[in-house]
Amino acid sequence: MSDSDTPSGKPQSFTRKTLDKPEEEKVKAPPVYKCCDNPQITYYGVVNLNINERTIGSVDVWRCGVCKKQFCEEKQLGIEELTDVVGMPRIDSDAKWAVCVSKLQKGKDRWKLVKLKENGEIKFETVEEKIITLKVENFKIEDDQHWSFLIEDNVNKAIEI
Ligand SMILES: [Zn+2]
Repeated sequence: MSDSDTPSGKPQSFTRKTLDKPEEEKVKAPPVYKCCDNPQITYYGVVNLNINERTIGSVDVWRCGVCKKQFCEEKQLGIEELTDVVGMPRIDSDAKWAVCVSKLQKGKDRWKLVKLKENGEIKFETVEEKIITLKVENFKIEDDQHWSFLIEDNVNKAIEI
């Protein structure tokens, strides 16, 4: 188990801190994240991402029956996910799951699962691995080249991006 590409394996921010870490720290498993004392997590639904009515990816939504917190996993069509997820991907209590859509990209690169806070900005890593800052207002990305929608409003829907 080395650096995984699953959402849970990534650091919370998109900074590149992990690069400088000594080898033994990298292989350490992250502590299991619990949303509440007694999590009852079940599958909740899916959001499909479509381009010209063709589904190119999806977001699986899981929900804790106790605290009602939602957890999301990004699925790119045709990419086999290695499910070595430890617990559920962590999200801050004041953040919401959303999909950020880049108008500049095509196909699978056009979207990304993100966590948005009500107001502020997010650091977003582009396909070219550049970190850009996007403004967020009322849980929505405000930008000429990017837009977003919340997962919680679109469970079991297909969204044309
Ligand atoms: Zn919970």
